[in-house]
Amino acid sequence: MTRQRLAILGATGSIGVSTLDVVARHPDRYEVFGLTAQRRVDELLAQCVRFRPRLAVVPDDAAAARLRAGLLAAGVATEVAVGPSALCDLASHPEVDSVMAAIVGAAGLAPCLAAARAGKRLLLANKEALVVGGAFFMDAVRAGGATLLPIDSEHSAIFQCLPEDRGSWNSRIDHIVLTASGGPFRTRDPASLHDVTPDEAVAHPNWVMGRKISVDSATMMNKALEVIEAHWLFSLPPERIRVVIHPQSIVHSMVVCRDASVLAQLGTPDMKVPIAYGLSFPERIESGAPALDFLSLKALTFEPATRERFPGLFLAYDALSGPEGASAVLNAANEEAVAAFLDGTIRFPQIHSVNARTVDAMAPRIGRLAALEDLMALDAQARAQARLEIGALTR
Ligand code: NAD
Ligand code: MG
Repeated sequence: MTRQRLAILGATGSIGVSTLDVVARHPDRYEVFGLTAQRRVDELLAQCVRFRPRLAVVPDDAAAARLRAGLLAAGVATEVAVGPSALCDLASHPEVDSVMAAIVGAAGLAPCLAAARAGKRLLLANKEALVVGGAFFMDAVRAGGATLLPIDSEHSAIFQCLPEDRGSWNSRIDHIVLTASGGPFRTRDPASLHDVTPDEAVAHPNWVMGRKISVDSATMMNKALEVIEAHWLFSLPPERIRVVIHPQSIVHSMVVCRDASVLAQLGTPDMKVPIAYGLSFPERIESGAPALDFLSLKALTFEPATRERFPGLFLAYDALSGPEGASAVLNAANEEAVAAFLDGTIRFPQIHSVNARTVDAMAPRIGRLAALEDLMALDAQARAQARLEIGALTR
């Protein structure tokens, strides 16, 4: 068997580390061609020593010097490249077969597009890239002949439940149901959310994840981004994408067919499962996750996601019914707001205020998006607006 050559963008993050964990179980199937990291150079060095990739990418010369020194001392021949263009070069490298997109935020859009245009097998964890890129992203996938495979657990679940023949989805499927855990504050008095600390917000009950997505899970903005992600991945209009709270995170999502039959994918909440599926599709390989122990499950329960408790979720539906670009504005606002919350500038409920105000302020300013450059300019404008809103809230 020829081995799949893999580039992992964001290798030191939660998804990146889980990906390497799965890959390490199957040295006969996967070869690590390239790894990238933004800050944790020492972790990246340790990964390079273990997996011996051809290429590693870091953000600047200082990080490159440190990584090169470590590689030299360890006798590892990994080549080191620097900056955002090197990320794109790796994602589209002719010797790379598959790209795991596990960078967090819109920063991952350019390398995703590079991988898509180069016709790679693109394993998408980086949902913000698709939320921002939207139609441009999907056009790049089509034009490049890429294979786009969802890694987000809900979207992997839906993908596993859908018939293989994409053309029949519309006629066979009535709607899909994304499950949401409800995060750490599902039952907390909304009036007390003002005092939530960043550490409380990132302490997710069921999943261990990076800080940004953990805050998004607490605000339900993660599910908002996932509704938009599902819209693009499965070509479904917003009214056919529903959300239900399922606190146990065992049912990862569901497809409701025309005949009212419901298909669901279940499992322990472990990202190694959707990662292994993306890596091996259409086959199945051992993921390293424990199998579901049915007898230890007390109950599988479901609750509505209400506007009172989770107003952020509804911004996704507004964005999808708004002008093209509205989702990119929402994502940009949220990235800025979460960063401001994590550094102590704003309070937890103000994340939603920043998002809602930025979306309102930007709505009349969203022009025609003829090219990707227009979209990137809109992203920059929305971030500037969000920073104004953050400033206004903290004065
Ligand atoms: P994380 O913060 O743990 O890791 C992010 C990775 O991206 C790190 O390797 C970091 O070095 C790199 N990175 C950060 N900013 C960068 C930049 N500007 N340029 C280049 N590289 C940068 O995040 P995570 O939890 O692994 O999530 C990664 C993506 O996967 C996110 O989009 C998240 O929404 C999605 N996702 C994560 C999970 C999960 O369980 N962690 C589940 C579903 C989807
Ligand atoms: Mg998810």
